[in-house]
Parts: sequence; C-alpha cells; structure tokens
Amino acid sequence: MAAMVSTSLSAGPKSQQLSATAPPPLFSGLRRSSAATQSFFQSVNSHLRLSSSTSSRPSTAILAMAGTGKFFVGGNWKCNGTKDSIKQLVSDLNSATLEPDVDVVVGPPFIYIDQVKSSLTDRIEIAAQNSWIGKGGAFTGEISAEQLKDIGCKWVILGHSERRHVIGENDEFIGKKAAYALGQNLGVIACIGELLEEREAGKTFDVCFKQLKAYADAVSSWDDIVIAYEPVWAIGTGKVASPEQAQEVHVAVRDWLAKNVSTEVASKTRIIYGGSVNAGNSADLAKKEDIDGFLVGGASLKGSDFATIINSVTAKKVAA
Ligand code: PEP
Repeated sequence: MAAMVSTSLSAGPKSQQLSATAPPPLFSGLRRSSAATQSFFQSVNSHLRLSSSTSSRPSTAILAMAGTGKFFVGGNWKCNGTKDSIKQLVSDLNSATLEPDVDVVVGPPFIYIDQVKSSLTDRIEIAAQNSWIGKGGAFTGEISAEQLKDIGCKWVILGHSERRHVIGENDEFIGKKAAYALGQNLGVIACIGELLEEREAGKTFDVCFKQLKAYADAVSSWDDIVIAYEPVWAIGTGKVASPEQAQEVHVAVRDWLAKNVSTEVASKTRIIYGGSVNAGNSADLAKKEDIDGFLVGGASLKGSDFATIINSVTAKKVAA
C-alpha cells in the first residue's frame, strides 16, 4: 500500500560545512539545482511512502522518501579482515536486530566471500568489491561475474573511487563492467562522486553526470542498479557531507535519470550516500528524502555500528 502525500521540496541550504568540526570554506562548488529539477520532484517524486507491509512497526511507519525503492545499506569491507576478525564480525551481524524494511548487503574481500556466505544470516546479501569486464579466462588476478554468481554473490560494487583513482579505471571501462555484471544477473552498486578539487571548481554535477552517462550508455536496464553517490573527499576521511550537501546531489542525480533515462527509473532507483557515514551521523542523513540508504566503509567493520546505520531507516519515519 502506498500513500502519496505531497511535501515541499527541501532544496536544502548550500551548507559549506562538512561537519561540526570541519573548516567551512572548503566546499563551495555546487551549482543550484535547476528549475526543471524542482518541478520534476514537485510533480513526480516529492511524496511520502508507506513502509512495506512486512514492517512490524505500527501504522505511523511512513517513510519520507522521494524514490519508491526500499532503503538499502551496503557495507564495503575493502581490503580488511582476517579469518578471525571476519568470524567475529559475522557473529555480531548475525545477532544484531535489524529493521525489516531495509535491504542489507556486505562486501567482503574476495577470499573471504565463501567463509561469509557459509556463516552469515540469509537476511544479509553478499556483494563483491569488483568484477572483470567480461567472461573469465586468461586474465590473471581477475574474478569474473560468473564466478561471483557461482559462489553466491548477489551484488557487485563498481566504480568505487578507489578503483577509479587508485587503480585507474575510467568511466567507459566501469560502464562496460556494470553491463556485463548485470547481464550475469548480479545487482550493481554503481558508485559516482567528485574529487575535492572538482567540487571546489564547481564541477560536482558535471562529474557525476558524466559518470552516470557512462553507465547509461552501457546498460540496457536500471532494474538492478543502486547508485552510490560517494564524494571522494568524504571517503575514509571522517569528513562526511552535510545532509544538505548530499541531498542536493541526490536530487540532481534523480533529475538526471528522469531527463536522460526515464521518470520511472528516476523514481525507482535507489540513490545511496557513502563517505564517512557512521553510527552518529546516519540518522540525520537518512532523514533527507532523496537519501535512500548508505554505502559504508570503515563503520561497516563494526557490527553494532553497522546495525545502527541500517536501523537509521527509522529516522525516515514521520507521523502519519
Ligand atoms: C566507501 O569506501 O565506500 C566508504 C564510503 O568508506 P567510508 O565509509 O570509510 O568513508
């Protein structure tokens, strides 16, 4: 059941603050959203949505979400962990109480996927942190989408800033990887995001739109794509984007999808935020209408913190 209740567009002040303790003048590069953006969201997406009927909460469980997708939280474990530490993390996740109306995914390093798959509750799905651009074969060190499916992965994280800026993957390569993974029935967590200097130069939207276009040019369907907006300056730095900064880009991304793909895809596609999300800041971010969840690095390595972030979906609830 869905309730369509009009709300005003929270255009969001263009806060220049990264956090209460960060210096203010660093981030001044965003342009204001276009009038078209606003009208799209006023007419199509600015509404409140009832949470799923599987929710155990009372009838006041209404989610303030612009999109229609379920809240989604992914944990990117990156190149961290040992057999023992991962055993502990899995045990903590297995015993955590998680809100029912959230899709939850964790991304262990390749070599621990099997261990995690065989010990983690089915409530949580597994993502790989990368996949090869095509069918496997003579590609030393690579892992194919077919192999990921074989081992029980449902998702793959692609376009992460560490793959773009440390390993050197470009937009076109990432788009092709996404298309191939989708073709093998993996869901794709498609990362985008600007560097600090790009934000400071006022190029945040240009960069994100170019990265989005590379995905759009390569894929034939957005059904199994979750977009992760991860400003590079916020990843692993402790400098989280303010809720207003994140919301502003998420609105722009949704508007880009509406104009360049379809209004249906704009409404259905989850746009999650990543970059120094933790147990203390997730609730404020989650309150923003266009933030449909999170991609979490460091804080996903601690089960209780990750559970708190997952459960920040409750911050989206507003009185009926
Ligand atoms: C990430 O790597 O996707 C990420 C968001 O990292 P962190 O939460 O540590 O900033």
